[in-house]
Amino acid sequence: MSSGGSPAESDTWKELLRGLVRLELKRGCQDDAAVGGFARLALATVEGSCTRTQPIAERGVSNELRSLLVDYQFLPNRARAGRCSALLALLGDSKSPSAGSPLPAGAPPAHATPVSKLPPDSIKALLQVLEEPVSKLWGVGPRVQEIMGKLGVGSIADLLQHAPKGYLDLRYPTELSRESLGQMVLIKARLLTVTEIRRKVLLVKASVRDPGGRVLHLVWFNNKFVRSRLQTGHDYDFYGRLENSFEGAQLMQPAFEESGTPPAQLHMNRIVPVYHLTSGITQKGLRAHVWRAVGRISSATAEYLPRDVASHFKLPDLAWSYRSLHFPTDEHEAEKARSRFAFDSLFLFELRVLMRKHAEQDVPGNPFDLPTGTVERYVGVLPFVPTSSQAAAMRDIEGDVRRPRQMHRLLHGDVGSGKTAVAGYAAYAAKVAGYQSAVLSPTEILAEQTGRVLQELLAPLGLRVATLTGGMTKSQRKSILGAVATGEIDCLVGTHAILEEGVAFERLGLSVVDEQHRFGVAQRVALGTKGNVPHSLVMSATPIPRTLALTIYGDLDISELVEKPPGRFPIQTHLMSATKRDSAYAMVREQVVQGRQAFIVVPAIDPASDEGDGTASVEETMRELTEGGLKGLRIASLHGRMKSSVKQSTMDAFRLGNLDAIVATTVVEVGVDVPNASVMVIEDAERFGLATLHQLRGRVGRGSSVSHCILIQGNVTAEGTERLQVLVHSDDGFQIAEEDLKLRGPGDILGTVQHGYDVPLFGSTALLSYRDLSALPDIRKAASELLEHDPSLGAPEHADLARMLSLRYPASKPGMEDN
Ligand code: ADP
Ligand code: MG
Repeated sequence: MSSGGSPAESDTWKELLRGLVRLELKRGCQDDAAVGGFARLALATVEGSCTRTQPIAERGVSNELRSLLVDYQFLPNRARAGRCSALLALLGDSKSPSAGSPLPAGAPPAHATPVSKLPPDSIKALLQVLEEPVSKLWGVGPRVQEIMGKLGVGSIADLLQHAPKGYLDLRYPTELSRESLGQMVLIKARLLTVTEIRRKVLLVKASVRDPGGRVLHLVWFNNKFVRSRLQTGHDYDFYGRLENSFEGAQLMQPAFEESGTPPAQLHMNRIVPVYHLTSGITQKGLRAHVWRAVGRISSATAEYLPRDVASHFKLPDLAWSYRSLHFPTDEHEAEKARSRFAFDSLFLFELRVLMRKHAEQDVPGNPFDLPTGTVERYVGVLPFVPTSSQAAAMRDIEGDVRRPRQMHRLLHGDVGSGKTAVAGYAAYAAKVAGYQSAVLSPTEILAEQTGRVLQELLAPLGLRVATLTGGMTKSQRKSILGAVATGEIDCLVGTHAILEEGVAFERLGLSVVDEQHRFGVAQRVALGTKGNVPHSLVMSATPIPRTLALTIYGDLDISELVEKPPGRFPIQTHLMSATKRDSAYAMVREQVVQGRQAFIVVPAIDPASDEGDGTASVEETMRELTEGGLKGLRIASLHGRMKSSVKQSTMDAFRLGNLDAIVATTVVEVGVDVPNASVMVIEDAERFGLATLHQLRGRVGRGSSVSHCILIQGNVTAEGTERLQVLVHSDDGFQIAEEDLKLRGPGDILGTVQHGYDVPLFGSTALLSYRDLSALPDIRKAASELLEHDPSLGAPEHADLARMLSLRYPASKPGMEDN
């Protein structure tokens, strides 16, 4: 660790923070003085200053700063202004209007008083521990911190919420019998001898005697630490596989720990937590860190939830739950703790969603003045008759944009349900009312396609549509930007490039985000600031079961496209093992001969990017197919690491029929529309989620004859087959989602949602089981009642709750995937 904390250094971060606070004040305390939120960056700045060894006096200041910032994002503007002045005063800002008085009148709620002066209160103490970075734990240096980061663990709270994926019951020694052979066994025994033998490999052999007088042999290979950790005459617990050797019963490479009584013993003689790991950290290592984190929690009872909520849902105490989640004394305790955190996860999630809804509800917007018959005029130029849900969605949108409040609508519909045409209507309505619109797509390929489709739909109505992508030349870009700024262009389509500085609209009135689950909220918001509070339409095909959709998208109004446009031919889905690949590619060839085209999707880009486990990659598959199964056909590859101009020209060639097949990563997952494509082959299908597979499958079946989706299962397991069978039997995205939910538990599915939706769940999603979700309506009700009385959680009695909420949702992580 550096010596740090010198006056110069401390001045730098303070200066930074002062600037930030002043900017935030200037911008009217919207928590937007920085990307991702002012409070978040400010907190990170304070946090950063604390990791260095700091003079004691400074530490008090940091704590005070922190306590002024933790719940900032949930405060009403007035209170925020007070906080800002208090921050400036603490930072010794002479220009601050209230310099000298650290807590200006009227501003700070009770808990803004310096933490150090708080009466001893176990929940405050617990929250303070939870907020600390893991680097505060003994033994966690920069390297371990980085590894933990890969597990999503940054704070002590994250570490404690890294729930075990399971437990090992190592409370009692195994009664050895003939059945024990080949099994993992736990024995308690005294070490008799230990020897190290260096041959080609390093061999450590030991013998032990158990309390029954039985002598067992132990053996380890290539483990140079074992010898030094074993002392003859001492008692140990050994856990390993029991095998027969010519010397008698033998334990292979057992884990061991010196016998003792808990808590002295951590890895044996108890129910032991087993975690998801990442490379660089071992079970024992992680367990020890969690153990130390748990050790920081006092044994006094502590609870941040309002008392009536905790008692209504019969929740065990928080501090107890943390201890019992990781180190339970029996299975019941573990389950009780798990379900407590499942509750927290859902409750905080609902609070967050509802608070956002409240915040967005009252944003004034520009009412569109639309003459009657606007929908009819648009429908009149469509090349098809809209489905009844498309028509209903257009009416919903019309109703929204006419009101003087900002629209926040989600257009939710399975792949191929025709969302683009509805978006076209919204853009048309904007134009009629005298506004421009912006359409944000997750990938270049999709932006280019959506731009083309909207151009076709809207040009007959007199709209000028342009597409902006990252791959354009400077002059192309410049001329488009110029036309956008003067209002010559009515509808601008693009990737996140349209969020960049320098893209100015003359009069932006509507933003559309396509495939919104691919974006972070930060980006949605950035688009929002481009205009004078534009109406917002987000579109998604994430197949959330209906039972969950309302709860999860609680802050948006929803229009759902329930039926698909008529005239679709069914897609036949085939599941086969890798040994039948030849027949899969025979089918591809047959379709190509008939003039059709094929997608071949693989999980990885190149052999190096797989995990060395033989996962199919674009490069390898290309090579294999051009030399084998698809020899002589026109094939090209497509993936996110290619230059955008190459991607575009490949996609163009495919669309024009100049290619027979493309081998791609999931870059083709979202929305690519090539009606002539009739086969979708997915290699190593078991590596994808069902929702992704369903999306991929939606790429075919758009033309006028039967299409095929071939799922090749690379690694055949019974569970994998069962999961993939769901796709063979169903073509309903919602039903698939429901089945997926039952098979995988809700964590993964909510995971997809949270990815785009930016309301991540509490702790590891492994915490949640399908059963927990049945309580969601109740939980939502409780959250909503709470907010009715205290919409911003500013009341002193909700201070701890607000703090926990901002701990769980500290940042928005904008995410763009283009692999
Ligand atoms: P998604 O909802 O997946 O974005 P798209 O908007 O790409 O779906 O539409 C899929 C295809 O269906 C497009 O080729 C589109 O032209 C066509 N389509 C949309 N609505 C209708 C309709 N009402 N009747 C016939 N075809 C339609
Ligand atoms: Mg689409």
